[in-house]
Order: sequence, then structure tokens, then C-alpha cells
Amino acid sequence: MIGLGSDPSSPQCSRAGCGLPATTTLNWRNPKIHTADRVKVWLACDDHADYLRDFLEARNFPVVVAKFGVEVTVVPDAVHPGGMA
Ligand SMILES: [Zn+2]
Repeated sequence: MIGLGSDPSSPQCSRAGCGLPATTTLNWRNPKIHTADRVKVWLACDDHADYLRDFLEARNFPVVVAKFGVEVTVVPDAVHPGGMA
């Protein structure tokens, strides 16, 4: 393999065909099959963080967006848009 900017140790955006360096993590789960302490992680560049969050929220999956390098261990149930008390 010839490493032209595709160092496997540098994490890349999860968006198909993107390949930019990841700056953000989307921590999510599917409540129908995952318990609350199960966290799936997608990586995203600046351009695609919103896209991927929308993708997950459209499926009613709880999502926690964090900066890359910040570990998220729990994704709380139901996040209600605009419902901050
Ligand atoms: Zn991207």
C-alpha cells in the first residue's frame, strides 16, 4: 500500500467518499437494539457533522455530538429539539 494521505492512524470522516480528517464525533445508538450504555461512534469533518447528525435524528436515534478526542460513554434517551428546560 502506498500511503498518499491515507494514514490509517489519522481518522477520517465517515461520510462516504469524503475522507477529510475527522474533527467531530457523533455518538449515537438505536434504542430498539442498543441499551443506553451502548455507544456507536461516527467520525465527521466540519462539513459533514450536521449532515450525519440529521441522518441519525431523522431516524429518531439519540445523538450526542462531541469534539474529536472527547469520549462519550452514554447517549441519553430522547433529545427533544428546543426542549431545553
Ligand atoms: Zn466529511
